[in-house]
Amino acid sequence: APSPMLSEEKVIVSVEVCLKPSSTAQIADVRSAVERMLENRCLSYIDGPIPLPLDDTFLSENVQRICICDTDESTSSHNILLFWQVKPDVHVFQLSEEGPCEEISTDGQPSSFNEWILPAKEFDGLWESLIYESGLKQRLLRYAASALLFTEKGVDPFLVSWNRIVLLHGPPGTGKTSLCKALAQKLSIRFNQRYPQCQLIEVNAHSLFSKWFSESGKLVAKLFQKIQEMVEEENNLVFVLIDEVESLAAARKAALSGSEPSDSIRVVNALLTQMDKLKSSPNVIILTTSNITTAIDIAFVDRADIKAYVGPPTLQARYEILKSCLEELMRTGILTSLQDCMNIKLPNYANAKEKLNTPENHEKASELCKQLLETAEACEGMSGRSLRKLPFLAHAALANPSDCNPLKFLCTMIETAKRDRSEL
Ligand code: ADP
Repeated sequence: APSPMLSEEKVIVSVEVCLKPSSTAQIADVRSAVERMLENRCLSYIDGPIPLPLDDTFLSENVQRICICDTDESTSSHNILLFWQVKPDVHVFQLSEEGPCEEISTDGQPSSFNEWILPAKEFDGLWESLIYESGLKQRLLRYAASALLFTEKGVDPFLVSWNRIVLLHGPPGTGKTSLCKALAQKLSIRFNQRYPQCQLIEVNAHSLFSKWFSESGKLVAKLFQKIQEMVEEENNLVFVLIDEVESLAAARKAALSGSEPSDSIRVVNALLTQMDKLKSSPNVIILTTSNITTAIDIAFVDRADIKAYVGPPTLQARYEILKSCLEELMRTGILTSLQDCMNIKLPNYANAKEKLNTPENHEKASELCKQLLETAEACEGMSGRSLRKLPFLAHAALANPSDCNPLKFLCTMIETAKRDRSEL
């Protein structure tokens, strides 16, 4: 493909504008104000926050932050995009602070689903915190965007077939559930012009097969009746997240072999039937996760259009995850001393390698960066979830937590990783 540098074509870059909770401004007004501001400024477009113009009272009163998001790696990893190469695509949104609304059951039974209004405050920053390689996040985003576009344009599914089922599978703790939630949040922002309302319903498949079997059938029916109602409102975009779908297959198998009551077959079948019904609605995206990485033999899973394997983090991803942990602990002042360390900006993985290959580099930052790389290497085989827990465990293991510099802390992290591997 011709490089965007050479072609006349502009690169579309998403600009996300988060309104203050107190703002009552019209979204359209804010969007045009931001578009005007972008036209007047000579920015280079790289992912991250853009400072708010201080002289614009309308924006500073209403806007919490403006961020450039998810620029395609292929267009921007080496070449920074300059303002004249870019067509900004501005999305203005306000976070819902309502929190999850649990379905309260009448008989003390644990609830098996949660509901959020999107975009939700809880999921703010989740997408950015998840680190994968090879453009997995971009691929998911583009996939879902295409599916929604086909629907919106009324493409005849008998002529071109596609569906709106996503399956993420891989070992536990690799961020699958979080990625589903983050994807839903992202899409709710990207598509808020078409769908001003958006909800996420989270169903834990496993919980449907708890000891309250006899209730499960009713539960599924109730749940899907509710979803059906939401979907009938055509300005609603509805995400249904079904976690641990492998438990559906397991329950069915167990029922067939007689080791579980045949009730469970009815529940699984009810769920599949309901999902089939939902598939015909244009404004639903079904997101599923499974911890089983080999063949998953459930009927609906075969119909998932996108099946992505989510594996344990590679060295590069581990470096970036630990780097973000370290920066957070420095930001909050938990890690102190090492003069000049508070403001150290650690390089990303690619630059870290380069930096370390420059032999005359003896500054504190490069020492820290080398140590970070070693820690990332020592954490081979750990899941993303364990990595994000490691700094906390390491801190708890410190002999003198009140005086801890980042270098010393990284050493403790390596020791903790080695020692606690089995428990993490
Ligand atoms: P899964 O559904 O695969 O078991 P979760 O979504 O429950 O995993 O992941 C738990 C947490 O682990 C995430 O919220 C995140 O903090 C962390 N995590 C896992 N994988 C990654 C990753 N690739 N990058 C950053 N954080 C990750």
